[in-house]
Amino acid sequence: MFDILKKRFGYDSFRTGQREIIEDVLNGWDCVAMLPTGGGKSLCYQLPGYILEGSVLIISPLVSLMEDQVQQLRNRGEKRVVALNRFLSYREKQDALRELPSYRFIYASPEILQSPLLIEALARIHISLFVVDEAHCISQWGHDFRPDFLKLGLLRQTLGDPPCLALTATATRQVIEDIVTTLKLKRVKQHIYPLDRPNICLYVQYVHTVEEKIEALKELIASLPKPGIVYVSSRQWAETLARMLHGKHRVSYYHGGMDGEQRLLIQQQFVYDQLDVICCTNAFGMGINKSNVRFVIHFHLPTQPEAYWQEVGRAGRDGNESIAILLYAPGDEQLGQAMIDMEFPTIEQIVHALHALRSGQKETGLTDVQQRLVLYWFEQMNGHEHIHVLARKLYRRMEQRKQEKIAKCQFMKRWVDEQTCRRRAILSYFEQQPLTNERCCDRCGAHVYVNDEGQHTQHIQLRPWREELRSMFAIRVESR
Ligand code: ADP
Ligand code: MG
Repeated sequence: MFDILKKRFGYDSFRTGQREIIEDVLNGWDCVAMLPTGGGKSLCYQLPGYILEGSVLIISPLVSLMEDQVQQLRNRGEKRVVALNRFLSYREKQDALRELPSYRFIYASPEILQSPLLIEALARIHISLFVVDEAHCISQWGHDFRPDFLKLGLLRQTLGDPPCLALTATATRQVIEDIVTTLKLKRVKQHIYPLDRPNICLYVQYVHTVEEKIEALKELIASLPKPGIVYVSSRQWAETLARMLHGKHRVSYYHGGMDGEQRLLIQQQFVYDQLDVICCTNAFGMGINKSNVRFVIHFHLPTQPEAYWQEVGRAGRDGNESIAILLYAPGDEQLGQAMIDMEFPTIEQIVHALHALRSGQKETGLTDVQQRLVLYWFEQMNGHEHIHVLARKLYRRMEQRKQEKIAKCQFMKRWVDEQTCRRRAILSYFEQQPLTNERCCDRCGAHVYVNDEGQHTQHIQLRPWREELRSMFAIRVESR
């Protein structure tokens, strides 16, 4: 095992948990493993790939992550690797299907695994290990639920029950239970490792207004060691802040509204230290391998502890001192709640979508996320019922999910108000304990050094959250 680690991967030692997980995988156990972001989860199936007979099938929800992993393997000289996703041309797919038995690593998106042709081809070859990356997507209670993941249990059975390795960096106990049930795991070993990142100091800075927040941000950027990431909740803010900070520092923005090439460019610049600060939405970060990020600033209150913790985790992967700062102004949580409200369709929209689905149309008028949920529940329910009955049922399911999301948002607000240790408070959400109390958090006496030279010159009009939201989405938000 060690010689493969050294020869194939060029590492001298295992990181926390890797060896234990790999040993269990090699012994044929089904494993659920939770290691922090950047903890080295990929190695836990890549190394066994060089020992086990057959192919390792890796199911991964994000195409960009998949491409990234495949590229890394190819850079290490691995040729027997393929990524199956919707970007393959018909021809490429045919070739891949024919060559299937020759691959050591087969990456696939859950969507493409709905294809009967592919399932048949997979069933004919020997799958030595069935890997589910970002496995929290399986759970309705997870923050990133993907209905497509629910069918993976069945798929595993079809493929002859190969041993399974489910990987995640963020899961509550309930989500882990869901993973075990949905994937129909039997001989299970759970490897739950601490999610705490002791080298990241946690800090909440209170301000009164948006102007103050911007000033605070400028001061922080001026004084903190770089590079760093500033997370915001809209594309517009990402661009606005990047423009404001531009000049003294090398700053750029990143969000889901940019085209792929632009995004790649910014990402590369950041990774190769050509940028000091990146202002971005939560679209930035996944699959980005940068070890020396010194700070993560949240300009808006994240709506979910899972997302907050994952974003914070992008700092200090090299183990050196880093800081996570949340800037909070009174009422920030209302923006989050309003955004959650908007994520869910009204009953009229559901009725409209159901009419469309019944008549076989693809265009339902819903967003992708809404459509995925509606489709999933639609398939679960008795399709012969009257549309209005179905719609009400669907609406109730949506309402339930919305309440769960609001509860997460409220957790974040309570966390901001927390009077005792912040680290303890956030980790308690994952039912874990802190590993450290040194340089812990503002409540434990940690300080952020900010120099006092930033003079307030620019005047920015404060906007109430409703107006903010309206400008973000160019829609009307009803007052209630
Ligand atoms: P995760 O999926 O847990 O977020 P990755 O598997 O992408 O993390 O690994 C993060 C980084 O750590 C990668 O750059 C990887 O090459 C590196 N890495 C993984 N295992 C080791 C190890 N044992 N020693 C040194 N570096 C490692
Ligand atoms: Mg990973």
